[in-house]
Amino acid sequence: MRFLGLIRSTRSICFLTALTTWLSGDLWSQQFDLVIRRGRIVDGTGAAAVKGDIAIRDRRIVDVGTFTGQGRVEIDAHDRVIAPGFIDVHTHSEDITELPVAENFIRMGVTTIVTGNCGGSKLEIGAFLKSIEQTGTALNVATLIGHNPVRSQVMGGSFARPPTAAELDQMKALVDRGMRDGAVGLSTGLIYLPGTFATTEEIIALAQRASACGGIYASHMRYENDRIMEALNEVLRIAREARIPVEVSHIKLSGPAAWEMAGDVLKLLDGARAEGIKVTQDQYLYTASSTSLGTPIPAEAREGGRQRFRE
Ligand SMILES: [Zn+2]
Repeated sequence: MRFLGLIRSTRSICFLTALTTWLSGDLWSQQFDLVIRRGRIVDGTGAAAVKGDIAIRDRRIVDVGTFTGQGRVEIDAHDRVIAPGFIDVHTHSEDITELPVAENFIRMGVTTIVTGNCGGSKLEIGAFLKSIEQTGTALNVATLIGHNPVRSQVMGGSFARPPTAAELDQMKALVDRGMRDGAVGLSTGLIYLPGTFATTEEIIALAQRASACGGIYASHMRYENDRIMEALNEVLRIAREARIPVEVSHIKLSGPAAWEMAGDVLKLLDGARAEGIKVTQDQYLYTASSTSLGTPIPAEAREGGRQRFRE
């Protein structure tokens, strides 16, 4: 009976509160727009999860912890994790404006993506970012400027050679423009056309331009098989000589001959970090590999473009 009494008195308080609110002429206004209650809050700093509530007003988090204020909308998280949106650093979502709701990302909790990886991006970074804004894309989008459209634009159909000095200058200018238009760095795809024909020196020259604008260098490396140490050393040389933070894209040991090399790879990366190089890496969430079917064919056979390759 005491228990029932408690409920009754709680109800009375609720009634009084409602009446007071009503009298103030503001029945529906609440303290917060949204309160998510009883979650395990992971704040993204690396700290352990804490149990608590999150209050949001005007699209911003205004309180974290436990509090009495009510939300216009209340969600009980039932002890599930509440975290900031995830960042997917490796996508090929150049077509994001065709699917601006981006449910595949949003439903997984991804709220920011990086696109333009593996040397492939739009050449016109400014126009790309503007089209994302105009479409009202649900995600935050950052893009790298890809080496391949830059090299294709400048060197035309002839790829299996180093650029002339004038061509290299034009490529640098395009990277410069892409960075100034909002790219967050330069990407290469050194198994793809025409990037596969680029020398390390060419990439260093372009990475220097990205570095000057505070960008990073992300690479789908030349080798991901038992020659991976050569490829990693190339990335690290670019980091040193262009003074740029580097990201090894989808790091992997491809093929049985490379499977024993994880220890060597990690040792090399640890050593580079100890030396002061900012090197990071990302990884597929699956144990297979993924690329286009033409890639296993020698680059020389693909040099003239898709039509010539078919012939
Ligand atoms: Zn790739």
